[in-house]
Amino acid sequence: MSPNAESIIKFNTGRCKKCGLCGYYCPQRVIDYNKEGYPYLKDPEKCKQCYLCFHRCPDFALGVNNNYGEAISTGQ
Ligand code: SF4
Ligand code: SF4
Repeated sequence: MSPNAESIIKFNTGRCKKCGLCGYYCPQRVIDYNKEGYPYLKDPEKCKQCYLCFHRCPDFALGVNNNYGEAISTGQ
């Protein structure tokens, strides 16, 4: 929905344990996992910014409007 979603939802690879809960709970199914197993937004324009992913992550690995510097996972 928002073209800015990718810049809002961040996944911190330093905290993420690759459990898959964020993608499981995403109602839009816009979270996928890269070859290392870390989540990323595969379809950021479809993200509705409901923040279920943020609230369900047990390791506080998601950031909203936060800059995690270099510890950001991507689709690469
Ligand atoms: S819920 Fe959190 S720890 Fe689990 S895969 Fe998603 S970002 Fe990583
Ligand atoms: S904010 Fe909501 S729609 Fe966007 S990735 Fe997270 S769970 Fe999915």
